[in-house]
Amino acid sequence: MKIDILTLFPGMFEPVVSSSILGRAVDRDKMEIRLTDIRDFSNDKHNRADDYPFGGGGGMVMMADPVFGALESVNAQGKKIIYMSPRGKIIDREKIEELAGLDEMVILCGHYEGIDQRIIDHWNMEEISIGDYVLTGGELPAMVLIDAVARFIPDVLGNENSAADESIYSGLLEYPQYTKPREYRGMDVPEVLVSGNHKLIALWRLKQSLILTKERRPDLFDEFVKKSGKLSKEERKILEEIVEIDV
Ligand code: SAM
Repeated sequence: MKIDILTLFPGMFEPVVSSSILGRAVDRDKMEIRLTDIRDFSNDKHNRADDYPFGGGGGMVMMADPVFGALESVNAQGKKIIYMSPRGKIIDREKIEELAGLDEMVILCGHYEGIDQRIIDHWNMEEISIGDYVLTGGELPAMVLIDAVARFIPDVLGNENSAADESIYSGLLEYPQYTKPREYRGMDVPEVLVSGNHKLIALWRLKQSLILTKERRPDLFDEFVKKSGKLSKEERKILEEIVEIDV
């Protein structure tokens, strides 16, 4: 997948796109991330890309001309163009999977009070939010989006991991995880996890996931119960126990 990111702060992305999962996706040619500095398309001698809002009010607004120049330079016409924006629909699993299926997309990061509306209208942008709070710029939201998308691109996560097994995506919150040492400052790892009995471990994990999900995300829990037709007899017994108890 090719992603063009248009930003006033390209330097913010460099450490992120070269480390961890995104770095691996780029190294394995699963993702190509190109950064475009919107200021390079400013006609102002000080490279300004913002101006005062018509109608007054505080703050500055990113001007159409430098952003149009940046969009034209990456041949954005006809591609999916996303504007990171707190006014957008909050991103969820379905949207991330949909985006992960694209070959190309362009992401515009806003700053200040946002961008001239004519940019959004002319380029038919989709506004996407990462949550009901306001950040200083679209750079961190864009990083959140591309990290989440990368995890759904085949062969980006190692074979041992699958995005579909994680919290939320599996339909439940994940069970508690432990690693070495087996005893730490008087706290032991649950016995079942060192039993070597994979069936018992799977049932224990399911039970912990159900307890956590019922307690923290009753909405997810109810959905899981509705779709629980494919559980084995042992799994169903655990689910029935958890449905009964008050967590
Ligand atoms: N004045 C704008 C409003 O009230 O909708 C907020 C502008 S915000 C300070 C600056 C930029 O940060 C936005 O243009 C957007 O690109 C980005 N941004 C802030 N919060 C965001 C969020 N929750 N999701 C996605 N992008 C966000």
